[in-house]
Amino acid sequence: MPATIDLHCHSTISDGLYPPEELVAYAHKQGIKVLALTDHDDMGGLAVARKAAEQLGMQFINGVEISVTWKKRTLHIVGLKVDPTYAPLKNALDAVRQGRIDRAKLMGDELAKVGIEGAFEGAQKFADGSIITRSHFARFLVDAGHVKSIKKVFKKFLVKGKPGFVDHQWMSLEECVTLIKDSGGMAVIAHPGRYDLGRINMHLLMHAFRNYGGDAIEVVTGSHNPPQYQQFATIAHRFSLKASLGSDFHGPGISYMEMGCVPELPAGCVPVWQDWEEAKHLN
Ligand code: AMP
Ligand code: MN
Ligand code: MN
Ligand code: MN
Repeated sequence: MPATIDLHCHSTISDGLYPPEELVAYAHKQGIKVLALTDHDDMGGLAVARKAAEQLGMQFINGVEISVTWKKRTLHIVGLKVDPTYAPLKNALDAVRQGRIDRAKLMGDELAKVGIEGAFEGAQKFADGSIITRSHFARFLVDAGHVKSIKKVFKKFLVKGKPGFVDHQWMSLEECVTLIKDSGGMAVIAHPGRYDLGRINMHLLMHAFRNYGGDAIEVVTGSHNPPQYQQFATIAHRFSLKASLGSDFHGPGISYMEMGCVPELPAGCVPVWQDWEEAKHLN
């Protein structure tokens, strides 16, 4: 049986394809009972999504996925049960979004160097007023016929060593965890299997994250394969971190995993929702 909780997904507030209320309706249709919306660096969809979830009798969790730089690498930290009215967190995310615009202009300049004109404006059209991400550049590159598929974009463009890549300084891991915790939330390392860290750096990351007050890591996510579910269950246990679970759904056909098709946590994990009123029926 797939899990009925999903603590990681995206709406049009960032790079998802459904507006918040449609995403919630889709989650409901897919059998999700407890949902967190975790848009990149933006909490602007939470109020609408919560209202839609309440109308459908679903439990809703405020979330956000924050971009972080740690040891020159980009990591994603999911904040769960964050307070979207907490000013220091809101202000920090405002700054991140401004930084995204600056980065996107530079990405446009980089793509122009290989003969691809108008990429910034093209990506902005796909972003349609939301924050601008590499996903929007990817959609532009496919739409304009430069690349066949989104997957191929992230092999040929926008990644280190390829055209369109811009090295960007995000907020620090310590600042991110502190902001999430101070807003009353829980901090979760998103898809740790995707960072290509060696064993030593992985352990350094877990140790640092734990010391800053981090709570959990994603064990089951659309970005992990089944052997990684076990691998990260073991790491969570070893570092006394709880385990989270989410599809990382962006839209049908463009996600690593469909919403409502995510397997349960492996036995022995301590779920990040262990003490949540909203998820009492799952424990
Ligand atoms: P950004 O935060 O602007 O660097 O954009 C990162 C986003 O690009 C991720 O959240 C994914 O939605 C998307 N992305 C990154 N790598 C891939 C990939 N290999 N395939 C599909 N989407 C990707
Ligand atoms: Mn994304
Ligand atoms: Mn991510
Ligand atoms: Mn995500």
